[in-house]
Amino acid sequence: MGGDEIDYIHEAFDTNWIAPLGANVDGFEKDLESYTGRAHAAVVTSGTAALHLALLLCGVERDDEVICQSLTFAASANPIRYLGANPVFIDSEAETWNMDPELLEQAIIDRIEKNKGKPKAIILVHLYGMPAKVGSIARIASKYGIPVIEDAAEALGSSVRGRMCGTIGKLSVLSFNGNKIITTSGGGALLSDEEDLINKARFLSTQARDNAPHYQHSELGYNYRMSNIIAGIGRGQIKVINDRVRKRRSNHEYYFRELDGTWLDPEDRYPVDDIGFKTKNSPGGIYFLKEPEHYYSNRWLTTILVNPNQTGGITRENLRLALEDQNIESRPLWKPMHLQPLYRDFPYYGRGISDEVFKYGLCLPSGSNLRDQDLLRVVTTIKKVLRLSSRRLSKSGMRS
Ligand SMILES: *Cc1c(COP(=O)(O)O)cnc(C)c1O
Repeated sequence: MGGDEIDYIHEAFDTNWIAPLGANVDGFEKDLESYTGRAHAAVVTSGTAALHLALLLCGVERDDEVICQSLTFAASANPIRYLGANPVFIDSEAETWNMDPELLEQAIIDRIEKNKGKPKAIILVHLYGMPAKVGSIARIASKYGIPVIEDAAEALGSSVRGRMCGTIGKLSVLSFNGNKIITTSGGGALLSDEEDLINKARFLSTQARDNAPHYQHSELGYNYRMSNIIAGIGRGQIKVINDRVRKRRSNHEYYFRELDGTWLDPEDRYPVDDIGFKTKNSPGGIYFLKEPEHYYSNRWLTTILVNPNQTGGITRENLRLALEDQNIESRPLWKPMHLQPLYRDFPYYGRGISDEVFKYGLCLPSGSNLRDQDLLRVVTTIKKVLRLSSRRLSKSGMRS
């Protein structure tokens, strides 16, 4: 926490606004509008709820198709199913690990040719804080007249050419879940330039009560509005967002430097066999994702690809287990939706990038509260495993 959160919570208690409305709810919405530069924001109970509302506002109905990035957290796709609609999954490109614009266009054309109708929306994700290829995606979306829903749950503080994530889609989604870059313990927001959409979101998220003295409903509503207590935490948190981004980026820089990182070359990265991926680079074997020019990532999580071809056979799983031995938690990257038991029967357009990223990728400890000695402990553990294997390698080299 930043420090001011508790004051806003006290204010809610002192004024007795213990409800899903009040000064903190209004204030947090204003804070988000001014931080992102977006005209309108509605705060809700979660990012998932915000995505559900976004799809409703795009008119998604049963049996419609909605395009969604495959490499993401399941919460990006699940709300499509809440509405009885069907996801069409798209692979990532190699430069940002987000939706591949070429495959997106192929998929749209193919769905139309197959008489599935035009997809109703495109759910674009900025994975781990790295902005997607928003320019190309927006051009394709507008060419076919399909609205973009921007899942910026992991990307508050990131930007492309100075434009903040959260301002890019027709509707944009933020999350303040416990693991996100700022948190309200749980919470989310829906943002748009269109005031009527955000007003409608507020209406739907408070049970869709018609304007009448009694309780009257003509539409199906939801109980999705953020509480005034939770919004108080958000008001305190938004004050420290820039510190959080600085810290996450400095974690990333530290890991890159201390692990002798190599920047991934998008050209190099198609999987060739079971023991690693092909690359022009020789040393190290620990790869990091570079920010394309004019891209700014909040580096929410530091992610690496481990190439066993170059680490003496050490895989990301070896590193994960070695870290776990030291009571340090690390995790594989998101398992793509097209590989999930829940989603493997839905259409998928891909060429193996997200599979590869999942296979070789590891998320390193990336919290904003990591101390220098914590970071040192992580890299020391990783280096030890890598050194052992290079010694083994050079020994076997001598023997042959
Ligand atoms: C966290 C997350 C969500 C869901 O947000 P919640 O607030 O946890 O419901 C959606 N999409 C992505 C990419 C996320 O990381």
